[in-house]
This record gives sequence, structure tokens and C-alpha cells, in this order.
Amino acid sequence: MKKTLKDFDFKNKRVLLRADLNVPLDNKEITNDARIRKSLPSIKYILDQGGSVVLLSHLGRPKGVYDENLSLKPVAKRISELLGQEVKLLADKNVISDEIIEEIKKVKAGQVVMLENTRFNPAEKKNDQEFSKKLAGACDIFISDAFGTTHRAHASNVGVASFLPSGVGFLIEKEIKYFSEALNNPKRPFVIIMGGVKVSDKIGVIENLFDKVDKLIIVGAMAYTFYKAMGYSVGKSFVEEDKLDLAKSILDQAKEKKVKLILPVDTLVAPEMKNGYPRKVVSCKEIPDDLMGLDIGDETIKEIKEELKDARTVIWNGPAGVFELEDFSKGTFAIAEILANLDQALTVIGGGDSASAVEKSGYEDKISHISTGGGASLELIEGKKLPGIECIEEA
Ligand code: ADP
Ligand code: MG
Repeated sequence: MKKTLKDFDFKNKRVLLRADLNVPLDNKEITNDARIRKSLPSIKYILDQGGSVVLLSHLGRPKGVYDENLSLKPVAKRISELLGQEVKLLADKNVISDEIIEEIKKVKAGQVVMLENTRFNPAEKKNDQEFSKKLAGACDIFISDAFGTTHRAHASNVGVASFLPSGVGFLIEKEIKYFSEALNNPKRPFVIIMGGVKVSDKIGVIENLFDKVDKLIIVGAMAYTFYKAMGYSVGKSFVEEDKLDLAKSILDQAKEKKVKLILPVDTLVAPEMKNGYPRKVVSCKEIPDDLMGLDIGDETIKEIKEELKDARTVIWNGPAGVFELEDFSKGTFAIAEILANLDQALTVIGGGDSASAVEKSGYEDKISHISTGGGASLELIEGKKLPGIECIEEA
């Protein structure tokens, strides 16, 4: 168990808090502030306990140099509004300097300040020790709450931990709780639904879970690589031609390990990956040459519902179709609805696109846990150790 917020006395302590404030921007305007809102509980808890907060976050990909368009200025403004108190941006093009350190030393209990986009300094991505030491210097405790970067060892989320007592915030605590419950001690039947584009992206996940799951349901574009490997024609559907052997070996492993592997029986096809073309549902084994599979069909949705009926643990990664386009979104949203109605099951969503699909489906509140970190959640399901979590002190 890693130390969490409850393990610290924050009274009169300056807390360096690595948050994930990497929000989408359109010309310096925040288009979705969900990440800022999700960061508030940890900040408020530290303030309520009598501490002060020095916020760290990256924003976009500024390549180690100052970029006015990626300043955290609009984020500081929004977080001030949401918190109902001023959050001052201690702006420096190099993020940290002697002047900024002096400013941090003046921060009093109950106050919140923010440093500039950590990726303005090339030392951030190098996990540079000097830079980390300066960031940590004027603070007393480090709290890590940016799950989305835990698979990267950078100065603001890993380097700083070697200079301060450390713990995780509420967001990472929740990620660890749900993933370890699902992966280390799953109630059975344990089912994994894998979808999305590439088998090659997900092979690590599949191989790590083969020994743990009872059923593996494959949907999304991935399914066509399996069908091609089985000798069926898949028309213009997306296929990884160089992964046919890999698909075959997954089919063999499933048999060997007695994991029930379920592939779609029908598929929604269209001539182009665009809304508004004529669509029809065909058998997955008979996709016409001039059409491509872009979603699962109704028979498959029914079968998935049946296979999940008695599931007690479900991990879902990868959409069932091109859910971004309304014409091909039904299957993905149907799976979200099925999971939402499994009252007895622990349901965990990993993967960036899967998380946004579930949010878009409207069933967000009825899912046990939607991971806030796309790449990080995949690496966790693959069984990898995440540097951003490993570096935190044990309770
Ligand atoms: P995640 O981010 O959840 O891990 P991926 O990145 O692997 O998921 O895959 C998400 C993408 O897969 C979505 O953009 C979706 O449009 C695409 N996709 C799903 N099914 C198909 C399909 N049949 N053909 C092409 N793309 C698909
Ligand atoms: Mg993705």
C-alpha cells in the first residue's frame, strides 16, 4: 500500500501536488475542464487540513521550450473560479528559478499557487535531479495525483519524490484500488473485453490476462485481423497483415489455457468510414469485398450481453466500433449500457478512447471505475510497474 493523503498531517505544511491539469485548449480557451474538476478533491483536502498547495502540471507538448500558447494561465484562472479563491500562477519561462523559490517560501496555509507548464523546461522529461531538487526545495511533502503520467519517469512526478516525503492523492489512490482489485483478486467469472484498432497495441494486455480471465471478448477493428487469420475474407476492413500469426497464436493460447474466446458473429459494414453512407449488417464470415466493418451487429450485442450476464469482474479496453461517428457508435454504447446494468460486477474501463466513449454514452456514473490515464492504465493491465507509482513511499 502506498501512502495516501490520510497518512499525513498537513498542518502548516507546503505541499507540492503533481496534478493532471492537461486540459484540451482551443486558442488558449479550455474546451473541457473535467481534469481540473477531478483534481479539486485532493487540493481541498490539503487546504482543509491546514496546508498550502504548490501545483505542478504539464500541458500539451511544448518540447522543452516556453510556448505562450501552452501557458497554464487559463488553467490557473479556471481553477481559481472552481475553488473560489485565488490561485496565483508563479510564471517563469524556465518553470523554476531562485525568485520563484522565494515566492514559494512566502505561501501561507490555505493558499494555492501554481508553477508554469513543467514541460517548458527540457529537464522535466529527462527527470533531471537538479531540476527536481529545485522544484521540491521549498516544499515539505510531495503528493502525486496525475495518474496519466505515471508510466513516464519525469522530474515533476518521479524526480521530486526522492527529495520529499511522498504519497498519492485521491485520484491515484482510486486507480490503484480498482485495478488491484480487478487484477489481483478478481471475483469470478472475470471477463475482459478488448477492442480498438490494433492487436499489436493490446497484445501485452491479452498475454498478461490470459492466465487470469475466464472469458476474452474481442471487438473493434482488432476482430478482423483474427478473422483474416482464420481464413475469412474481411473486405476493406482494417487488418494488420503482419499480425496474422500473432492472432493465430492468441487463438491457440486461448484453447490451451481454456479461456473462452468470443469473436463477433455479425458486423455493421459501409463503403467508407464516414456518416451517411448506406449501411447493413452482415455475417463476420461474409464481408463483401467493397465494404468495411465499422461496428458490431445486433446479434453480437445480444451475445455479449448473454456472456456478461453472470460476470463479477469486467475490464473493458477498446471501443467496439468507430464510436466517434454516430453511424458506427451503437455497439460501443450498447456495451457501456450492458456494463452499467451489471449491478453485481466490478466494472473497470481502461484506455483513453474507451473512457471518452463511456463518458459520451451517458453511463459514466454506473461504472465502478473509469481510468483517468489512457497509456498508464494499459501498462498497469499489462502487469508493468509504473515509475510514477513505484517512487511513492509505502505506508
Ligand atoms: P483505447 O484508447 O481505449 O485504448 P484504441 O486507441 O485502441 O482504444 O482504439 C480506439 C479507436 O478504435 C477509436 O478511435 C475507434 O474509432 C477505433 N475503431 C474501433 N473499431 C473500429 C473499426 N471497426 N474500424 C476502424 N477503427 C475502429
Ligand atoms: Mg486510444
